[in-house]
Parts: sequence; C-alpha cells; structure tokens
Amino acid sequence: MMEVKVTKTTNPKVKPDPATVPFGVAFTDHMFMMEYDSENGWQNPRIVPFGDISLNPGALVFHYGAEVFEGLKAYRTPSGEVQMFRPAENFKRMNNSAERLCLPQFDVEDAVEYLRKFVEVEKDWVPDQYGTSLYLRPFLFGTDADLALHGISHATFMVIACVVGSYYKSGLAPVDMLIEMDDVRAVRGGTGYAKCGGNYAAATRAGEKAAKKGYSQVVWVDGVERKYVEEGGGMNLMFVWDGKLVTPELNGSILPGVTRKSILELARSWGMETVERKITVDELMEGCKNGTVQEAFMCGTAAVVTPIGGFVRGEEKVVVNHNKIGEMTQKVYDELTGVQWGLKEDKFGWTVKVD
Ligand SMILES: *Cc1c(COP(=O)(O)O)cnc(C)c1O
Repeated sequence: MMEVKVTKTTNPKVKPDPATVPFGVAFTDHMFMMEYDSENGWQNPRIVPFGDISLNPGALVFHYGAEVFEGLKAYRTPSGEVQMFRPAENFKRMNNSAERLCLPQFDVEDAVEYLRKFVEVEKDWVPDQYGTSLYLRPFLFGTDADLALHGISHATFMVIACVVGSYYKSGLAPVDMLIEMDDVRAVRGGTGYAKCGGNYAAATRAGEKAAKKGYSQVVWVDGVERKYVEEGGGMNLMFVWDGKLVTPELNGSILPGVTRKSILELARSWGMETVERKITVDELMEGCKNGTVQEAFMCGTAAVVTPIGGFVRGEEKVVVNHNKIGEMTQKVYDELTGVQWGLKEDKFGWTVKVD
C-alpha cells in the first residue's frame, strides 16, 4: 500500500440535516483519488478537497462508457465509533466489474485501507441517528484520450461520499412493481453482473416509464426468453415462498448484491431453507394469487430492504401479503440494520471499524 497524501480543505461546508437531506446530493469536504497507467500501475493516492476534476474531452469514459462503480455505507454506532459494512466484498466485486470492462484492478486489502483512511478524514460527516449514514461511492473510469477502440492503459479511481438519511422517509412501506416486458437491463454474456454505469443508462427509460404510471420500480426479466424475473430496479429480488427464502440464481445477468448475499447467510443461520433458482414471471404471478408467495422484497445497500406489495403485468395485477410488510422482511431489516448501526452483535464479523 502506498502512502496517502492528505490535503485538507480550507473551506469546510456546513453539514446538512440528515433527517431531511435528499439521497445523493450532500457531498462531503474531501474526495479520494489515484491514477493508473499500464507502465507504472496505481500512483499517487491522495485525499483532496472535494471539487471539479478536469479530463481530456477525448477520454474513453465519455465515448465508450468505460466506468464501474460501487456503493456502500459508513455508520456511527451508539458508542460513537464509525464502521463500514463488508467493504472487501465491494472491492472484490469492483475488480470483477473492472475485469469485464478491461479496466485495471487493484489489491482488495489496499483498497479497503484507502477507503478506511478516507472515511477517517470524513469521520465528522458520519451522522449519528439510526437510519442515517455516510454513503460511499468508489468509482473507476478509463481516461485514455484516444477514440480508437482498444484496451485501457490509463484510468482514475475515486471515492466520493454523501450524507444520507433513511432511504424511505416515511418508513418501510410496500411498493407496487411494474413487470417490464420491453426493455431489458442485461443479457447473459453482457455486463449484468458488473456494476457499471452503462447498465444504469440503459435502465433509465423503463424506470421513467414506470414512474409516469405511478410505479416506484420495474421488475427486470431475462433478456433471452423474457420469461424469468431477475431484479427489481437497482436491487435484488427475494421471496418468502412456501416458507423458504427464494431468490433468482446468479446467472451472469444479475448483479451479485452484498445485501443479497448477507440475507441468504442470515436466513441460513436462522435455520431457514434458501433456494437460488430460476423463477418465471408466470409462477410468480400464480404464487401471489394462490398465496404460496408469502412475502416479496427488494434488497440493496441504499434502502436495505424494500417490501413489495404487488406486481403488475399489463392488465394483470396481483397483491402480496395483503400489501403489508411481511414478518421475514421486517426481521431481515431489523437484523441487518442492527448490525450495521452497531445495535446488534456482529456474529459474522461483517463490520470494519474505521477509527
Ligand atoms: C448495486 C446493485 C444491487 C445491490 O447490491 P448491494 O451490494 O446489495 O448494494 C442490486 N442490483 C443492481 C442492479 C445493483 O446495481
């Protein structure tokens, strides 16, 4: 690991009220950055005042979308300590994403340590109310100023952070999901398993269309047969189905969520059977109608879990669990957030202390 040079801001910002701040806008005072070139590897890790960056307009990221990112959080525990949740998992995934897009990879332990250092500098920005946190956004992009298509020899890695409140200001309330049968998010062999900006750009249209119709998220189906459910918006899907925890199996087009993985581990530790398999839209609609689908929810870092109250496919609408948050959904939310905010024992060793 290289030494990190720290340049503190001379103009600190006023910190926002985490109870009212919108998601993703209240950036902190500093940012982490370092550059890569194929001759020297990673160079010059540094923490500098948050601000604009300058790039050649020919940089690869602007033309061919060479960008991958991560999302995780730092939490303040009741004793005032700051901790992160499974950061190594995020950097392992970032390496897999980078490999898919021919971006450079890095040593996972070093990356966690750089992140830890960054959060240490921004420690005072980590809010202290349960439900609020400091959202961390590592990202990596190709900077070669060259419009020819070839491998990437220059890249920049950065981390920015913002204060976030509870994702759902009015608490956990079930949402209705629109099953998207036209646009697809990803296909096998494509970049579905990589956390890359391009996936989100391609997903925006369906999301906007659903929002106009009053739905908060779409359910993505597989891009080949348009038959199997894959994800819910930018989150993974989970079901309590005949008493088991059921989720779509990772098939290359589904993003392997850290929250998804943690929930599967939790459920097994509670003695609940977990099943990762293909799930057709037809059997999901049928299962909701006949009550074998007892609960449905989405999961991801930003919102932790989001209960699903119903699914809509064309004219067909089904309700889940009488449009109420399920027992397992609530239990998962309580346990995960309990560990993240240091209110519950961390039996799995998932948290990493910052200071
Ligand atoms: C980031 C992401 C998730 C959730 O991953 P977590 O690691 O749990 O935050 C799920 N689906 C998509 C498409 C994502 O980009």
